Amino acid sequence: MSARNILVINCGSSSIKFALVNEAQQSFAISGIAERLGSPDAVLHWQLGDKKHSAMMAFGDHQAALAELMPKVQAAANGKLHGIGHRVVHGGEKFTTASRLNQATLNAIKATSPLAPLHNPANLLGIDVAMKLFPNLPQVAVFDTAFHQTLPQHAYRYALPESLYREHGVRRYGFHGTSHRFVSRHAAELCELSVGDSSWLVAHLGNGCSTCAIVNGQSRDTSMGLTPLEGLVMGTRSGDVDPNLHSHLARTLGWDLEQIDHMLNRESGLLGLSGLSNDMRTLEQAREQGHAGATLAIEVFCYRLAKSLAALSCALPQFDGLIFTGGIGENSPLIRTMTVAHLKLFGLVLDKEANARMIRGISGPINAKDHPRVLVVATNEERQIALDTLALLN
Ligand code: ADP
Repeated sequence: MSARNILVINCGSSSIKFALVNEAQQSFAISGIAERLGSPDAVLHWQLGDKKHSAMMAFGDHQAALAELMPKVQAAANGKLHGIGHRVVHGGEKFTTASRLNQATLNAIKATSPLAPLHNPANLLGIDVAMKLFPNLPQVAVFDTAFHQTLPQHAYRYALPESLYREHGVRRYGFHGTSHRFVSRHAAELCELSVGDSSWLVAHLGNGCSTCAIVNGQSRDTSMGLTPLEGLVMGTRSGDVDPNLHSHLARTLGWDLEQIDHMLNRESGLLGLSGLSNDMRTLEQAREQGHAGATLAIEVFCYRLAKSLAALSCALPQFDGLIFTGGIGENSPLIRTMTVAHLKLFGLVLDKEANARMIRGISGPINAKDHPRVLVVATNEERQIALDTLALLN
């Protein structure tokens, strides 16, 4: 059988990210993003081989964007597209693996929407349009939460009245599962360890950030919870705060839930702390020039990250290595150095030269010889979604 092609779609409320994944090739034949959908500035950007292109599509919606991009995808696939893999943020307790899309799975995803009111409806919109446009192509949903369904109860339950869990699904779910799974498998390969007999701590550091403890290929604990706000300091998200902050702000400042939600999700994290930017590159440059806010934001980011990793080590029977991934994890020797420096009891020591070299998608170990493993592993969520889709087509 010749190598198969899967289109991977990640649909947001006003954007569609896409990539054509061929099972035999590492790079994508075509990838891109349609953004600002529904507005006068709606635009489709795509990269074909090394060349970048753009086309304005004023007021184009999700359907128009898919209709515009599909002929390009079909051409890049030489007319041989075998299926579509959709990223879905929340699968609740219902989905422990990827699922073939049909009416029953669509209903189950809809039923999970109250847990992810911003994300799941947008994901469903993309699925709906794609299924209407391509009724004969097999389509699969791959969930950010599914990998974490192996968390033991003592890791996923909040210390809240039981009825909130039983009747309303209030528990920790975790996110970034596709990335945590992909990089832990790749790390095992790189270190010639068996996935089924290896234990990892993973730090996925992008705009959203989370840690994960992975034992024998299964997630055992993770830093995100009911929503992707819990845990680490992120680009614009606060991560953990005192849960009484809500009532404190309501009582003292008269803020309503909308305001508090917006502040915690959009105005906090690196942006809030630095007063400058949510972008780590900008912050690193500003820190070099002595910017106090940027310096503090980076210090809090690394300390809180190290603290989360140390906490998650409780879930490991042994320690085979710490993995850095995501835009920051894959590209910032500084953040890796500062984080490792806080984990004194782990005995981690970095090889300075290897740490500096592991950037821009290069994966490999960065620990000094004879010290516990620290690795940089480039994530590839699109590829993992395509592999999961293919596994269901087999
Ligand atoms: P997303 O979660 O949206 O997929 P990414 O994984 O692309 O995000 O990560 C984005 C983050 O990675 C940004 O904070 C960006 O500044 C950071 N980043 C990218 N390149 C570098 C770099 N060379 N040094 C430091 N941070 C970087």
